[in-house]
Amino acid sequence: MSRSDDLFKRAQEAIPGGVNSPVRAFRAVGGTPRFIASARGSHITDVDGRELVDYVMSYGAILLGHADPRVVEVVQRAAERGSSYGAPTEAEIVLAERIEEAMPSIERLRLVSSGTEAAMSAVRLARGATGRPKIIKFAGCYHGHSDGLLARAGSGVATLGLPDSPGVTEAAAADTVVAPYNDVGAVSRIFDELGDQVAGLIVEPVAANMGVVPPAPGFLEALRARCDGIGAVLIFDEVITGFRLGLGGAQGRTGVRADLTCLGKVIGGGLPIGAFGGRADLMDHVAPAGPVYQAGTLSGNPLAVAAGLAVLDAIEEEPPYERLDVLASTLIEALTNAARTTGVPLTINREGSLFSAFFTEQPVTDYESARAQSAGAYARFFHGMLARGIALAPGAFEAWFVSAAHTDTDVRKTVDAIGDAMKEAAALG
Ligand SMILES: *Cc1c(COP(=O)(O)O)cnc(C)c1O
Repeated sequence: MSRSDDLFKRAQEAIPGGVNSPVRAFRAVGGTPRFIASARGSHITDVDGRELVDYVMSYGAILLGHADPRVVEVVQRAAERGSSYGAPTEAEIVLAERIEEAMPSIERLRLVSSGTEAAMSAVRLARGATGRPKIIKFAGCYHGHSDGLLARAGSGVATLGLPDSPGVTEAAAADTVVAPYNDVGAVSRIFDELGDQVAGLIVEPVAANMGVVPPAPGFLEALRARCDGIGAVLIFDEVITGFRLGLGGAQGRTGVRADLTCLGKVIGGGLPIGAFGGRADLMDHVAPAGPVYQAGTLSGNPLAVAAGLAVLDAIEEEPPYERLDVLASTLIEALTNAARTTGVPLTINREGSLFSAFFTEQPVTDYESARAQSAGAYARFFHGMLARGIALAPGAFEAWFVSAAHTDTDVRKTVDAIGDAMKEAAALG
C-alpha cells in the first residue's frame, strides 16, 4: 500500500468520495488518486516521494509554473499585512485596471472568489439588466456548479434544460435552454422561438471542458449578431482561456467582443479568485451602483489579488505565449506520430497552447462528438503516462495544460512516454 492509498482510504471516511472536487477522485480512469505533498515549476511531488511532470496545472489555474518565486514572495508579504479586511484596497483597483487594459470589452470588473461565482453572477446580471428570464448555454460547456447552469441537452437538437444533478429543481433549470456547440442553426431556432424572452447567452468562446473544442469559423460572430438582434447579453466564460490564450483571451484571438466576461483560474495565480466584468452600462446594474445584488466576504482577497498581479506582471514582462505554443506543438506532434505508428485512432483539437487528444477518429466539434471517444483507451493511456512520471488529467474530457515552467527536458521525457504509453494502450485495447 502506498501512502496515497492509505490517505485515500482515510479521506473517504472524512470527505465525500475522498476529494473536495469530483474530478480528482480518478473515477473516470480507475485507480487511486495521488495525494500531493508539494509542487515546484512543472513538477508535482506526491506523498510517496514520486515526482511527476504536471500537465494538470490545477486545471489551468497555474500559468507560470508551481510556486513561482515572484508569486510566493508577494503572497508571503501580503499575508504579513493581513489576509482579509472586509474593506477595499488599492490593489483591487490595480488588478481591475490591468485586466481592463488587456481585455478592452471589460470596462468595469467585480472580483469574486471562484469561476462558479463569476458565471452565476454574470447570468444574474444579464437577467437583472434585461428584465428577461431565459439563458442559452451549450451542451458540454461548463460554467461552474450553480443550479441554473448545471443543465445540458439530452441528445440531438436543442432541448429545454433538464437538471443535470439531483438537487437542481426543474424550476431552477427551466429558464436555461441548451444548444449544441458550434450549431448556428440550432441557436437561431432557439432565438426565433424565444424572441425577447432571452436575457443572454453564455458560452466558452473556446470550449475546454469537453476536451478542447474550438469555435467553428463564424460561430462566435453569429452568436454576437443574434444577441445584438434582440438586445440579449453575450457572456463569454473565459475562466480557462483568459490570459492563457494570450493577454486578450479568446476575445483577443477571435476579435469577437462579449458584453460580459467571466474570469478565474490564471488571474489568481493558484489562489481562489474569479471575476466578471464588461460594458459599464451593464456592470452599473450591480450593487451598490445598481439593484442586482452580488457580494462576498472574501471578494478581492488581498492574497489572491497580490498573486494575480504578480502573474500579470510576469506575463507582461516576459510573454510566455509563443513558448507555450511551441511546447504544445511538440507534444501534439508526438501524439500524432504515436497514434500513426500504433494505429490508435486519435483526433487532436487545438487552440493556441490549449489542446486535447480524443481517442476517436471522428472530428470533435461538440459534446456529442466528444462523447464518441473511447474512455477506456484514454484510461489506459493515462495510466501508461502516470507510470512513466507524467501527470495528465484523470478524465478524457480535459485539456492538457502547459506552463511557462515546462522545460525542454520535461518535454523530451513526455515525448518518450507518449510513444511507449500509446503502444501499451494499443496492445491492451
Ligand atoms: C473552471 C471553470 C469554471 C468554474 O470555476 P471554479 O473556480 O472551479 O468555480 C467556470 N467556467 C469555466 C469555463 C471553467 O473552466
